[in-house]
Amino acid sequence: MIPPIANRFVAGESPAVALERVRRVNDRDVKAIVNLLGEHYDDRETAEADAAAYRQLIDDVADAGLEACVSVKPSQLGLDLGEDVFRDLLSGIVERGAERDVFVWIDMEDHTTTDATLDAYEALAREHGGGVGVCVQANLRRTREDVERLAAVPGKVRFTKGAYDEPAEVAYTDKAVVDREYRALLAYAFERYDDGIAVASHDPEMIDHAIGLYETHGTPFEIQMLMGVREDAQYELAEEYEVWQYLPYGSRWKSYFYRRVMERKENVRFALRAVLGR
Ligand code: FAD
Repeated sequence: MIPPIANRFVAGESPAVALERVRRVNDRDVKAIVNLLGEHYDDRETAEADAAAYRQLIDDVADAGLEACVSVKPSQLGLDLGEDVFRDLLSGIVERGAERDVFVWIDMEDHTTTDATLDAYEALAREHGGGVGVCVQANLRRTREDVERLAAVPGKVRFTKGAYDEPAEVAYTDKAVVDREYRALLAYAFERYDDGIAVASHDPEMIDHAIGLYETHGTPFEIQMLMGVREDAQYELAEEYEVWQYLPYGSRWKSYFYRRVMERKENVRFALRAVLGR
């Protein structure tokens, strides 16, 4: 059983509980990006089991008529075992998504995985004419070039600041520079992209920047935020814009929960209050 304290950031352990949560956010006009927690598998069976769970999840979302898509992690689909394993398992999920009209996002992990992830994304997006999206990270020095390359690919791109601690050779480590890059990437995308832009940030300044770009260029976009983070803002923004909530579930919730708690001191306080009962 998942403890109530972790329930702010993780929907629950079973897909049924996750889909119940999807229903609740859909009722408030927010769509859901469902993620089965898991990463860095070193055996094929576990990766295959998660791939099968994703295909089933796609069927469940489609059968229930929910406003939801899924988001997968490359190392959850066997990237550590080999690019061929990852591509094989990912393409099975994307094919099922195409059959059932459920969108598939690919999360981006650390910089050693960027090439394999973008190559797999590009091949599948071209094969299916869309229906799939990939995340890019503003903290990586390479991302401006990647974003130019992706402009010609028929899929959606999720813009994030980047969640991984990366070495200075490949990444900007100064937060102000990452913010500057993020703004520049969005400016480029709103000018050049026509297949979908996802602004995945909780930062009010970045969201205002995106809204300003939308008002200038009219390019369709969506806002994405995590479950348990600025949820009031999500529901408020959903009155005017398309908003998606990233909603993780599964038995491997501990490390995800720990990351959410540690990334902001407000969250540490919240966790302590819940443990101490005040
Ligand atoms: P930050 O730069 O952390 O903070 C800026 C401001 O935002 C803060 O000053 C505050 O005003 C507000 N804010 C931020 N967090 C909170 C909070 N917890 N509570 C209240 N206010 C807050 N990263 C990857 O590397 N790969 C991925 O695939 C990936 N997918 C993501 C998908 C989604 C839907 C989201 C929302 C993020 C994803 N990320 C991913 C994480 C992302 O890269 C950032 O690490 C994370 O979003 C923090 O950056 P930020 O832009 O939200 O705000």
